[in-house]
Amino acid sequence: MDDNYRTAVDAAAIFSETDLSGRITYVNEQFCSISGYRRDELLGANHRILNSGLHDPAFFDGMWRALVAGKAWKGEICNRAKDGSLYWVDSTMVPLIDPATGQVRKYVSIRFDVTEKRQLLHTLQWRVGHDVLTGLPNRAYLSDLLNQALEFSRREDIALAVCMLDLDGFKAVNDGYGHASGDLLLVEVANRLKGILRGGDAVARLSGDEFVLILRHVQDPAQLQLALQRVLKAIAAPYSIREREVSVSASIGVTLFPLDNEDADTLVRHADQALYVAKQSGRNRYHLFDVSLDREVKATHQTVARVRQALTMGELCLHYQPKVNMRSGQVLGFEALLRWQHPLKGLVAPADFLPLVEQTDLIVDIGEWVIDQAMAQMQRWQQAGHVWPVSVNIAARHVQRSDFVERLKHLLARHPGVAPQMLDLEIVESVAIENIQRVSQCLDACQQLGVQFSLDDFGTGYSSLSYLKRLPTRTIKIDKSFVRDILHDHDDLALTRAVIGLARAFGRQVIAEGLETIEHGQLLMDLGCDVAQGYGIARPMSAEAVADWVANYVQPSQWLALAGH
Ligand code: C2E
Ligand code: MG
Ligand code: MG
Repeated sequence: MDDNYRTAVDAAAIFSETDLSGRITYVNEQFCSISGYRRDELLGANHRILNSGLHDPAFFDGMWRALVAGKAWKGEICNRAKDGSLYWVDSTMVPLIDPATGQVRKYVSIRFDVTEKRQLLHTLQWRVGHDVLTGLPNRAYLSDLLNQALEFSRREDIALAVCMLDLDGFKAVNDGYGHASGDLLLVEVANRLKGILRGGDAVARLSGDEFVLILRHVQDPAQLQLALQRVLKAIAAPYSIREREVSVSASIGVTLFPLDNEDADTLVRHADQALYVAKQSGRNRYHLFDVSLDREVKATHQTVARVRQALTMGELCLHYQPKVNMRSGQVLGFEALLRWQHPLKGLVAPADFLPLVEQTDLIVDIGEWVIDQAMAQMQRWQQAGHVWPVSVNIAARHVQRSDFVERLKHLLARHPGVAPQMLDLEIVESVAIENIQRVSQCLDACQQLGVQFSLDDFGTGYSSLSYLKRLPTRTIKIDKSFVRDILHDHDDLALTRAVIGLARAFGRQVIAEGLETIEHGQLLMDLGCDVAQGYGIARPMSAEAVADWVANYVQPSQWLALAGH
């Protein structure tokens, strides 16, 4: 090379020449200084002296193939200096060809130091996947780690535990000693967690004082328990932060794959749910996610969703059961009872779907729908010349709503042709007592509107006299479980007698529900209860069947016989 060029190249780059066998024949000053070798150590040595071991043989094969073919090669190479440190060079290697023979004569290489750029890149890449404070994998990297672990677990058929760990009392440390101390504590916690882990396990920091542990090789519950106990113990050991002794503990939520056969995100969510339970049940403990409970909750969701659909698709309907005065034979009105006309299962009784729904606000929508339907039905009957009051059942959750009265007003206003006095709301006695304050207020406000009330299932709620006084319902319905047994159970007979006496003393109407036979009726009339409802009179029937039933209803002769008394 021409001397002028060489001066320029020497100033700009790391420069060397090698012969065809790779022996170094020339190096410039920059080459010596970056590699840490003296010139005399390099000259005559093979270029392999700088090999870092970082590149695999295929990398150099590619390079040599290009050079032997007379082509230049460009790439970034990691070399090892004499002191063992690594440095990266951006290299261009050029085979020089003898113009006389057309053969490659030697190789020259021009290199630039890119170590800093490489390090920066590496740091950046590392930061994307790690938490800078503790050096642990972060949330983004966790999902990779967890997916790898799941794949391993599936392949090897080995259980895997996903644990969500949260410190108890971390906020107090932060607030009491400052955030810098809080940070030191987190670093120490991270170190302890790393210290406990075995090969293949992983720990990541999600945020704040939240960590996730992935434990592989959990062969049995006992082993898992041992591992978790070890973690709890390690975290609970005292810390010395800036010469102060600090103590915290950890709560852990755990879920086990493949028992909990879900994807990475869901497993973390399940561990989080279990963590919540661990916290609730007193901290410094772990809680295992309950897979079967989760399935139950999901099933509940599905059922409730299906019932909501039934409501909007018009699959719900009301059946009507008559209330009759046994002495006079007069039909006094009806109780509206909910039914689900299921497309596959046929007619479904409320006991089969309402209990789940009653835990949700759907029961409010259903309750309002029932009131609306009952009002519309009364309107239709009225138009046909029948004045039949209807009672509807109101659930606990519904009657407790602060806007119950307001919304009831709206419902009544939708049916101006029906007097509010025609509507009777049945509230189960036990519900009324549990919410006595709210219910008695509600009762007063509704009675201002003219709406009537009944205490349903009376006798099951252990009402005291004072409660009864505070619940000014017009009617008391004796629960069918007592009525059923009055003929042969002395206690039930005594209770029924007492309830009838009580109702009389308080000036309430009393009605017996679940009346199944004529004899029951005779006894009840004897006791002073003339009004009844039950299969012994009629089963609940569709609205269309009501008018015919009433027209054909004949009071049993045994009751008629008692009428004179
Ligand atoms: P409930 O209000 O005490 O209604 C009386 C229940 O006893 C009805 O059951 C009725 O069919 C049944 N029954 C009537 N006569 C007899 C009889 O002689 N013997 C026997 N063993 N049973 C008789 P149903 O219709 O299955 O309703 C069960 C419960 O579901 C009701 O008890 C009520 O608490 C609730 N429910 C029904 N409809 C609604 C509704 O629209 N909304 C709300 N929130 N609850 C409702
Ligand atoms: Mg009822
Ligand atoms: Mg009842």
